[in-house]
Amino acid sequence: MILGIESSCDDTAAAVLRGREILSNVVSSQTDLHAAFGGVVPEIAARAHVEKLDLCVEQALAEAGVTLAEVDVIAVTAGPGLIGGVMAGVMCAKGLALATGTPLIGVNHLAGHALTPRLTDGVEFPYLMLLVSGGHCQFLRVDGPDRFTRLGGTIDDAPGEAFDKVAKLLGLPQPGGPAVEAEARSGDPTAFAFPRPLLDRPGYDLSFSGLKTAVLRARDQSLVDGALPRATRADICASFQAAVAATLAEKSRRALAVCPDATCFAVAGGVAANEAIRAALEPITDRAFLAPPLRLCTDNAAMIAWAGSELFAAGHRDGMDLAPRPRWPLDSAASPMLGSGK
Ligand code: ATP
Ligand code: FE
Repeated sequence: MILGIESSCDDTAAAVLRGREILSNVVSSQTDLHAAFGGVVPEIAARAHVEKLDLCVEQALAEAGVTLAEVDVIAVTAGPGLIGGVMAGVMCAKGLALATGTPLIGVNHLAGHALTPRLTDGVEFPYLMLLVSGGHCQFLRVDGPDRFTRLGGTIDDAPGEAFDKVAKLLGLPQPGGPAVEAEARSGDPTAFAFPRPLLDRPGYDLSFSGLKTAVLRARDQSLVDGALPRATRADICASFQAAVAATLAEKSRRALAVCPDATCFAVAGGVAANEAIRAALEPITDRAFLAPPLRLCTDNAAMIAWAGSELFAAGHRDGMDLAPRPRWPLDSAASPMLGSGK
């Protein structure tokens, strides 16, 4: 029985797993708290985590029908993320571990996303993972719960960040991903010829900041009496989404080519919720294509509990000296460039 705790960004979350069975998966979103500021405010986030953590843990235990004494391992996100939030989660987990004598494991948030296909589908190592979220974008070869090789990733914005910024440019609500996707449904993806950055260069690196600038230019050139026509806005959204999907698909094809032994190609992170992106990625591989269900794509504590249980099985343990880490590359030997953060 594993209790997972997650508080690295703007969601406070707790979950209880029994093996691969998700007994509870509580997520308390702070979106409303940050809405007026147009982005996550670290101080507000940290305070909200402190207020919500106990309640989330209590609710997760209650929904699972287990007591704290029945928990065998406590897994907590120890980074990377906003330091105040990570600190709040780690303190909460340490308190519970200390009070009950339960083993504690610090989990890398990205490992949580990257190991999700093992929780949902029990896939075997090695596999190729495309992690696309609000703060990150990278190709990972996953050989074990603590063995990740980063093949490449974004050299500037993360795709989720690009979706959020495009939404802001077009007057759509945050988080931008779902808003842009909804708008794109009624748009023409070929209406605007947005760039496919870095496709002319070899390798697996990606770039999304130029695309965002192209959207800004398209918006400004499409104004009618100072306003953007609704249909044009939908066309911009559809064309932007198509450009992101095409770029991710081509780079994924290249990354798959250097992982011939991969058992499957999996996506994770909030952007993996996007249906057009999933549809573009699915046909590029003859291996299994896995995209976890929505609630396990975006931030949640079930993935942290799962990663914790894998690490526990591999012999990992942390003590009361477990330190929150604002930056924590999964593959420390490789380039530390992991997107521009938030
Ligand atoms: P990280 O995991 O890197 O720390 P994060 O926690 O902000 O970042 P997630 O919760 O995994 O990331 O994902 C949130 C991001 O996913 C947001 O940028 C959001 O706009 C984007 N997103 C969510 N749904 C969609 C969608 N349907 N299409 C595109 N993007 C989406
Ligand atoms: Fe995340």
